[in-house]
Amino acid sequence: MKVPELIYSTVTNTCPRCHKGKVFEKNNPYNLKYIFKMNQSCPVCKESYFREPGFFFGAMYVSYALMAGWLIIWFLADIFWFRLEAFALAMGITISMVLVSPAFYHWSRIIWLNFFIRYDRNALAGHARENSNS
Ligand SMILES: [Zn+2]
Repeated sequence: MKVPELIYSTVTNTCPRCHKGKVFEKNNPYNLKYIFKMNQSCPVCKESYFREPGFFFGAMYVSYALMAGWLIIWFLADIFWFRLEAFALAMGITISMVLVSPAFYHWSRIIWLNFFIRYDRNALAGHARENSNS
């Protein structure tokens, strides 16, 4: 796993292996009708996203880390710029966490997939070769 590949795959909602197929059906996590609609496997290179039962429980740890990072950003911003009252700070954090959670839900699953699936620039060439052999 390389960080630029991880970021590209996460931000563009693309398969960690081929960077072409979609992980979630819709790119926009705020399209709430489709927020949980995830492809079973990559529509382009056929890499399976559901590698074993309960595979995405691990994405909770990624989500936890993302939220912890979000909190750190809030506290640093408050210390250096906002200087809010405790209640206003708590409300700002709570409301913003609700607002970012759809994006973090998508990102945490794609980041979790990236831990186990490496980018393979020849993924599509290999797939085409397999098809031509049969
Ligand atoms: Zn793929």
